Amino acid sequence: MSDKLDRLQTLLARVDHLSSASAVLTWDQETYMPAGGAEPRAQHLATLSQLSHEFFTDEEIGTLLDQLQAELSDADPDTYEASLVRVTKREYDKATKIPSELIAELSRTSSHAKEAWKEARATDDFEKFQPHLEKLVDLNKRMADALGYADRMYDALLDNFEPEMRTADVERIFGDLREKLVPIVERISEREAPDDGVVRRHFPTERQWAFGLSVVEDYGFDTDCGRQDYSTHPFTISFAPSDVRLTTRLQEDYLPSGLFGTLHECGHGLYEQGIPPEWADTPLGSNASLGLHESQSRLWENLVGRSYAFWRHYYPQLQETFPDQLSDVDLDHFYRAINRAEPSFIRVEADEVTYNLHIMLRFELENAMLDDEIAIKDLPDAWNAKMEDYLGITPPNHAEGVLQDIHWSMGALGYFPTYALGNLMSCQLYRAANDAIPDLEAQIADGQFGDLLGWMRTNVHQHGKKYAPQDLLKRATGQTLGADDFVGYIRDKYSGIYGALD
Ligand code: ZN
Repeated sequence: MSDKLDRLQTLLARVDHLSSASAVLTWDQETYMPAGGAEPRAQHLATLSQLSHEFFTDEEIGTLLDQLQAELSDADPDTYEASLVRVTKREYDKATKIPSELIAELSRTSSHAKEAWKEARATDDFEKFQPHLEKLVDLNKRMADALGYADRMYDALLDNFEPEMRTADVERIFGDLREKLVPIVERISEREAPDDGVVRRHFPTERQWAFGLSVVEDYGFDTDCGRQDYSTHPFTISFAPSDVRLTTRLQEDYLPSGLFGTLHECGHGLYEQGIPPEWADTPLGSNASLGLHESQSRLWENLVGRSYAFWRHYYPQLQETFPDQLSDVDLDHFYRAINRAEPSFIRVEADEVTYNLHIMLRFELENAMLDDEIAIKDLPDAWNAKMEDYLGITPPNHAEGVLQDIHWSMGALGYFPTYALGNLMSCQLYRAANDAIPDLEAQIADGQFGDLLGWMRTNVHQHGKKYAPQDLLKRATGQTLGADDFVGYIRDKYSGIYGALD
């Protein structure tokens, strides 16, 4: 067996090295590459991704996986060998089901669609994007058919981002969440929002950068094994657990944007740094799902970074960093300003109370498109109707409505729900960590994060992709995914800011 395992690991390492090289090129593309690099870079990346797909779908890998699976049929499923074969086989079966012409067509269609989407958004003209989206939805249907699904077409696409999660489960969880959340949002909308003018003063970006990075280091991000750079659209990318890249953007006239964006990306980075380095060259050395990834970013951004305890420790330091801007603002005022919640049009700018409603709307529309319950030409009206239902507001134009996100132009259907699932998971994980660390709040108020990070390392990070995300969550928190921890968190926290919300 060990010869076969060695050979499998060698073949998988080739795939991983190509993906890591692509990651370096992608990181550079978004951070330092001059505009002239765009065209050749797209070609370099296309070649690498084609090679990586060819290497991974090599028949020899399939044969080795079948042989090893037979040999390991009696082995403990938790061992490294059994886990590696199980997880790799699942990905191999999916990768070999999608015809390479379909991948190529999706990639061609989406690069045209992205250009059309940009133009449609700039001119507020949905019809420019409509034929591209129609084609992308068709290609996604073909992808779902190729992958296969038991119940709903959406299951096949969702599985690409949240393995083993079913559409019906998401609908049940979102339904419960919507029922409890919409009344809270309505009550908050009726009350007077806290003044946030104090965080809209002038905050020089060099000092924002230094302050953000100091918290990132306090959180436990190892800057010998990672770094932070600027990018227009912040993201985190890993080349290896010992080389994780954070990116951020800072706004001179709005402090929360850059500050919490930095803490958000740090949460992603902590997850990547916690994946066992000895698994790095295999499919096991990856995150469990996009939802779990987002649970980590949201935890450090919101549950820790927007908490009162956190600012008891950091607010004096922030005032020292920005004496002209904040010396006349007390901690309570600042805390309320950074936790202002209200219905808004743009998902990426939404607060933690209303954010999930933006996701539910997209999830429902994606399902309706796939199930042919809605014609693409009617999408803008359907979007606006749902915005009115959930948030009580109607976008003034399509750029602030149906055309705001890049995801559909990339052909990525099934991705959006992972953001909301991540928000729910973050609250569930935090509750479990809080049960395990009785003085957690006091530790946070003292600027100590070692126990919390240690708990995430033990219960989430160190397992890489070994367990399906819902298994991992159950192991870590004792419960399957639900909305209760999130709703409880929102109700408690925002009652303190807006008055009783029951
Ligand atoms: Zn994120």
